[in-house]
Amino acid sequence: MADYVTRFAPSPTGPLHLGHAFSALTAWDRAQAMGGTALLRIEDIDRSRARPEWEVQIYDDLRWLGLDWPEPVMRQSERGAAYQAALDRLADMGLIYPCRCTRSDIRAALSAPQEGVIPMGPDGLIYPGICRGRGLDDAGPDDALRLDMAAAMRVAGTVRFAETGPLHAGHYAFDEGFMVEHVGDVVLSRRGVGVAYHLAVVVDDAQQGVTEAVRGADLFEAAAVHALLQRLLDLPRTDWHHHALIRDTAGKRLAKRDDARALAQFRAEGLGPQDIRRMVGL
Ligand code: GLU
Repeated sequence: MADYVTRFAPSPTGPLHLGHAFSALTAWDRAQAMGGTALLRIEDIDRSRARPEWEVQIYDDLRWLGLDWPEPVMRQSERGAAYQAALDRLADMGLIYPCRCTRSDIRAALSAPQEGVIPMGPDGLIYPGICRGRGLDDAGPDDALRLDMAAAMRVAGTVRFAETGPLHAGHYAFDEGFMVEHVGDVVLSRRGVGVAYHLAVVVDDAQQGVTEAVRGADLFEAAAVHALLQRLLDLPRTDWHHHALIRDTAGKRLAKRDDARALAQFRAEGLGPQDIRRMVGL
């Protein structure tokens, strides 16, 4: 079996808070238990939101927690060529189409005649396929690029992955019908932001040799998309370990903007890494 490699992949768009600490500590604890390695990756792909000062703060907070990692740290802002190559490969396979729909176009199409629940997938509303079938040669400069899920599943066959986290542990297998209905034609590239998170994460995990990705349970549904992309791109399969989300005392999920829960704040109040471990239940 390949040596265990996991990663912590924060976005430098705000201070690290207790939820991030839980994620990072879980990753480092698992790596230690498995005799493997935990890597750091800076997910600064969204240039409009990422800030260098938050990146510096991430290094600082993680070192304060007692964690270290092999250098150099992977930064998504330096990985454009690898993402483009992956996108080109999917395009050559005929699995990508341009989409010019706005959110309100999508809403309008979904709320049209049928009644009942509006289908939601890992990225929110499931795209109703308005632009599906458009060719890439017809792509406008503002178009997003979407994965044609039905076509992709015909190439990939069943999507399989293993989950080791406490909430959803098990082996999963999803067929075309499930993926079309519950995931849909996800966006893989967006004007202004560039390649979408789903594609970047898969390309990066492969490049970093990740065998098990530790992250929050809010991304559990996205694992099906990631497992599919790994298969389409002939990348090694990873396992996932989605951990519970840390909530505040009112049961609300901690958001990045909850600066009161920022690690730097606890540190300023004189708390130590052991206090943080206790607070997140480790
Ligand atoms: N960058 C994501 C975040 O900060 C994590 C993505 C992942 O671990 O796959 O929430």
